[in-house]
Amino acid sequence: MGMNAAPRTDHLEEALSYFEEFLRKKGFKITQTRLRIAERALSATGHFSAMDLWDSLGDRRASIATVYRTLELLEEAGLVRRCVFAGSSGAIYESYLGKRRGHGHLICQSCGRVIEFQSAAIEEELRRIAEAHGFCLQEVVIQGVGLCRDCRGARG
Ligand SMILES: [Zn+2]
Ligand SMILES: [Zn+2]
Repeated sequence: MGMNAAPRTDHLEEALSYFEEFLRKKGFKITQTRLRIAERALSATGHFSAMDLWDSLGDRRASIATVYRTLELLEEAGLVRRCVFAGSSGAIYESYLGKRRGHGHLICQSCGRVIEFQSAAIEEELRRIAEAHGFCLQEVVIQGVGLCRDCRGARG
C-alpha cells in the first residue's frame, strides 16, 4: 500500500541496493538469505507465488515464512507487485524490473495463463475518472478474466 518512491530502474544491482537501504531505514537485519530471496524475486521474469520462489531457492535453511516476509517488504519498497488474480487462491508476485507499472493482465480461468498487455488508453481513462471523483490514485490494476485462445479451442 501507499505511494512507492522506489526508483524506476531496470537494473538488478540498483534495485538490490535500494532494498538494502530500505531495510536499513526500517531497522531490519540484512541477512544473506533475505538478499538471496530478494535477488530471486527481482530477477524473475514471470509471475510467481511465494512457494515457487521458495522451491527455486533450493535452500531448506530459508523458511517459507522468511520468503513471505521478504516479498512483503519488497512490495512495501515498491520493487515487487502483489497481484491477486481472480480465480486463483494465493497471491502471485511479479518484479517491477524491466516492466511498466501499469501493465494489465488477462487471466485464463481454465489453465491459469497470464497474458500481459499495455494500454495507455485504459490507464488514462482510469486516471481521468479518479480525478473527477477527487480520488488519489495510487495504483492502477487492470485485469480481465476469461479463457485463453487454447482453452477456447479445447472447449469448442
Ligand atoms: Zn487457458
Ligand atoms: Zn504482470
